[in-house]
Amino acid sequence: MNEFELIHKYFSNWSGVGTEPTLGIGDDAALLEMEPDTQMVVAADTLVEGRHFPENADPGLVASRALRVNLSDMAAMGAEPLHYTLCLTLPSSDIDWLSLFAARLREESERFSCSLIGGDTTRGQLCMSLQMLGKVKSGEALQRSGAKADDDIWVTGNLGDAAAYTSLNFSDDWSSSSFAQKFWSPEPRLEFAQDISHLASACLDISDGLLADLGHICKASGVGAEISLSDIPQSPELQDQFPDQSLQLAISGGDDYELCFTAPPESNTQLLKIADEQGLNLTKIGNIIQGSGVTCLDDTGSAIKMSQAGYSHF
Ligand code: ADP
Ligand code: MG
Repeated sequence: MNEFELIHKYFSNWSGVGTEPTLGIGDDAALLEMEPDTQMVVAADTLVEGRHFPENADPGLVASRALRVNLSDMAAMGAEPLHYTLCLTLPSSDIDWLSLFAARLREESERFSCSLIGGDTTRGQLCMSLQMLGKVKSGEALQRSGAKADDDIWVTGNLGDAAAYTSLNFSDDWSSSSFAQKFWSPEPRLEFAQDISHLASACLDISDGLLADLGHICKASGVGAEISLSDIPQSPELQDQFPDQSLQLAISGGDDYELCFTAPPESNTQLLKIADEQGLNLTKIGNIIQGSGVTCLDDTGSAIKMSQAGYSHF
């Protein structure tokens, strides 16, 4: 199958999946209408085989993760996802791989109402780069830079599960565990983020580890943070299987794609109500303070030093 046949077979005829573009796949570029009083939100994430996911991984799982990590960036901005492009590099035109990958991508696109509107296909080491396009009402996007002293710091869900799967070297023995599920199919907190965007002062999704990512909020906002280690939410499975490492995994492990955000204390009740209505676990883990950097506090309120601020490629 040549490149054009491959694109035609697997990536065209997606009309009806998600929001329709004015002009989709098949021309030199796609065309989208721009709504008034709306800002376009653009994010991209690349997944390289052997670096971001193990070799010979299930193509459906790879598709799911590739889409969801990009959707998580939309959630982190409080945006509604609309469309995406896919730049796919493949070692060969492996029909079995492609049909599984494309089928799951389509299923997930339907689930999250976003449509594939273009991309590029080349030969090389397996790698996929998605670029997601979304929208927010003008001026309402959640950014990293709005945290203020005395704001509370919150996280959604549990932390550390995806990193546990990485630390198990993606072992087949764990492929049906909740750790694997969290790694391959993180839940982008889209609805929650859109609902709290008027309450939160700063927000991001945790891709590199809580300490590293909260550090980004601090830097962008010109503030410091104090977090209470005993309040970091961890799943019962993580505490069971990794009694000695669960805290370290939860604060420095990446890949969970939960949200970390700050909000003034007056918003507490409303935030908890919104989370409760969505059946989402929401935990207050600390406070923004004047100063810089992230300080970890133990049960007695004393500052303790924790290693590994998170993952960095270089
Ligand atoms: P060009 O050579 O003009 O860049 P291509 O032959 O690469 O065009 O692509 C033809 C059409 O197929 C374009 O609309 C492009 O966006 C789309 N396309 C190519 N690869 C992919 C892909 N992996 N996923 C989705 N659309 C793709
Ligand atoms: Mg062209």
